[in-house]
Amino acid sequence: MTCTTNNPAEEPKQSTNFIHAIIDEDIRNGKNGGRVVTRFPPEPNGYLHIGHAKSICLNFGTARKYNGKCNLRFDDTNPVKEDTEYVDAIKEDINWLGFQWDAEFYASDYFEQLYRWAVKLIRKGKAYVCDLTQEEISRDRGTPQKPATPSPYRNRPVEENLDLFERMHKGEFPDGSKTLRARIDLASPNMHMRDPVMYRILHADHHRTGSAWCIYPMYDYAHGESDSIEGITHSICTLEFEVHRPLYDWFIKELEIHAPQQVEFARLNIDYTVMSKRKLLELVKNNYVTGWDDPRMPTICGLRRRGYTPESIRNFAEKVGVAKRDNVIELSLLEFCIREDLNKRAARVMGVLNPLKVVITNFPEDKVDMLEAINNPEDETMGTHQVAFTREIYIERDDFMENPPKKYFRLAPGAEVRLRYAYIVTCSEVVKDANGEVMELRCICDLASRGGQSPDGRKVKGTIHWVSAPNAVPAEVRLYDRLFTVPDPDNVPEGTDYKDNLNPDSLKTVTAMVDPCLKGSKAGTGYQFERLGYFCVDPDTTTDKLVFNRTVTLKDSWAKQNQ
Ligand code: ATP
Ligand code: MG
Repeated sequence: MTCTTNNPAEEPKQSTNFIHAIIDEDIRNGKNGGRVVTRFPPEPNGYLHIGHAKSICLNFGTARKYNGKCNLRFDDTNPVKEDTEYVDAIKEDINWLGFQWDAEFYASDYFEQLYRWAVKLIRKGKAYVCDLTQEEISRDRGTPQKPATPSPYRNRPVEENLDLFERMHKGEFPDGSKTLRARIDLASPNMHMRDPVMYRILHADHHRTGSAWCIYPMYDYAHGESDSIEGITHSICTLEFEVHRPLYDWFIKELEIHAPQQVEFARLNIDYTVMSKRKLLELVKNNYVTGWDDPRMPTICGLRRRGYTPESIRNFAEKVGVAKRDNVIELSLLEFCIREDLNKRAARVMGVLNPLKVVITNFPEDKVDMLEAINNPEDETMGTHQVAFTREIYIERDDFMENPPKKYFRLAPGAEVRLRYAYIVTCSEVVKDANGEVMELRCICDLASRGGQSPDGRKVKGTIHWVSAPNAVPAEVRLYDRLFTVPDPDNVPEGTDYKDNLNPDSLKTVTAMVDPCLKGSKAGTGYQFERLGYFCVDPDTTTDKLVFNRTVTLKDSWAKQNQ
């Protein structure tokens, strides 16, 4: 019973959105010869999260829709934070989501070309070496109303700039002592146009180029030029880059190279979680979670371990749509998507999270009655499996109440309930310990109700799940809840920290008793534990010990609680 058929090509093509409207118009006008080339450009400084998944679905989905191409480009221009561990994890996650890149590139592949283009800008008088420190540059940058103070190095002769830039490259100067800056417009209302830094000195080993370079290009310079080199037609990025677009276009124009079009869309935000890599890294480093793939994390590997399927994430990205303005999507929508998907394909089994023993006093001690259970009522082709019914069983502690309110249709003294697939039973006795705690129930079974049928047509409203006590196997079940208790953990009052709102109950571990057919299940397999929710086999599972993660409950319990 496996839960992934992973072929996005078989899914409906991306519905249309404003980015596709732009592309349609470009194709009509014959721009780029009608070609569409996109890229997904992660910085390998952390694991991908659900926000990246949105960008992946958009970039790869757009290329697919227009029979174009989509590259994977690692934006690796900051050696201090980047690592091949992240490169490998990013590739794994994209593949798992169901996408294949047409080509794999690294911004660091272009360092030589970028260097030559920087020299070209210096020759044109469009770039200069500046000796101000980063702090001095910030100090002098003015305000949107007040122009920046010109750097004393702004009018350095071209020859001197060429010489200094070459010596920066050769490693003659210490970190932070010089930068290369574009020479644009100190009075521009757009602060990004006020002679932005193009290169900085950083004597640090790079995960791919080693010690070959000690000057590194800044994002604004490297990104557009990398897009251009790859012949990207539409460079899709998030809204915060809208104000960078004039700079993106300026470099391309001054270098007289292929001009991709930058198009911005709203980044995906989800409530009750944080999505910045910096914060996610902090949660990992300081052991607030067990790792990047902790099932409470919004990372793709966390969602995978939690039991999310690629289909559910792609479907979520599709439902969220492509917005032009920032908004926050409810986590419940993501949960809706995985419920919808697993409902179609997860096998149903019975498991009891908080077991209470029940003895069926009129059922023979050594009898094992094999009953037939339906694997998935949504999909007949999934067939059935056998469950063993015995004199001693476990039911969920919550399915018994000594003094039930009206309309309680589960088990209570003297009350009748149907055991799923098995028999109708009546509770005849409650056994308690010295403290009055319920230890065990005695029940009488209607032997004529085998299969759960009511023999005389009498109404039995409640049906509960159960497992056979001698047959069931114990399993560790990890019950997850949202990681934060507030909808917007990024926005907390001054003096407090997003970590102050971590949910102390985001993980509870219980020992459950589950159907023995689960023995030997492979990590990643998803099941519905009847009446409880969807659960997925965790990779911590060994031959001796089953471990499950609760992916999602059957119903949205938060919506109810917060009404
Ligand atoms: P973070 O701010 O979390 O570090 P980032 O934007 O710096 O994320 P990158 O690795 O640079 O991370 O992102 C790669 C691509 O994914 C970029 O094109 C970026 O715009 C996009 N992306 C990142 N976060 C989101 C998000 N929340 N929603 C949509 N797209 C996103
Ligand atoms: Mg980024």
